[in-house]
Amino acid sequence: MPKPVELQSKSLPRLAAELAAVSRMLETMNILSYSGHIAVRVPDRDALMIQRRTDSRAELTPDRMLLVDFDGKVIQGDGKPPSETSIHIEAFRARPDINASLHSHMDLAIAFTMMKGVQLLPMRARATRWKSGIPTHPDPSHIKYPQQGRELAATLGPHHVALMRAHGLLLVAESLPALFSDAVHFQENAQAQMDVMQAGAAPEPLSDAEIDKILALEDRPHHVAKLWNYYIRKGLAAGSVDKGWNLLAA
Ligand SMILES: [Zn+2]
Repeated sequence: MPKPVELQSKSLPRLAAELAAVSRMLETMNILSYSGHIAVRVPDRDALMIQRRTDSRAELTPDRMLLVDFDGKVIQGDGKPPSETSIHIEAFRARPDINASLHSHMDLAIAFTMMKGVQLLPMRARATRWKSGIPTHPDPSHIKYPQQGRELAATLGPHHVALMRAHGLLLVAESLPALFSDAVHFQENAQAQMDVMQAGAAPEPLSDAEIDKILALEDRPHHVAKLWNYYIRKGLAAGSVDKGWNLLAA
């Protein structure tokens, strides 16, 4: 497993601002709502940054974030982390190559865990991220204990997303901007497959050869930065992102 390469040089205030912004932007897209949460790995220690359990995803601010160690103990900030924080802790423990994780109760993700014989597949050109597969975790329970988090991390394996039966998803990436980009494309891709199926057609996903062809021309950092600036600007205009957080990429 490769070591984390990005983000670890970012300061905690910067990570807190990105965490607030990504949460607010995903809330406007119904990827987060009254529940669901995002975590980011704290540089150089076994800990993560996450929101307080009771804070609205639509109103998060950088100064209210918590630092939580991998035993689930709050080591900075006041308040309790979300009850499903084990999802993020165990994903970070199992996957040193990831720095950011999203747990969402996205409607479309859930729908694909409730259709007999239907598998969510990489359909759109921006779905190459899921070439290795989109596994489904069979346990629909609320994740409260580390053991459940470990079982979910085992289902995730080396992949970049895992669906959770009748519950939601876990999506992981190398940075918060990359996580945001992947979440947007994951939802677009699930909608595309749903559109095809609702048209009465059989889905024809990207083949491995097509995915390899797309990836050969892909510049992930460029695309992540482009999408990031688009949505941060949109958030600034709508008032959901604070200008003082200085989040536009150069
Ligand atoms: Zn959940």
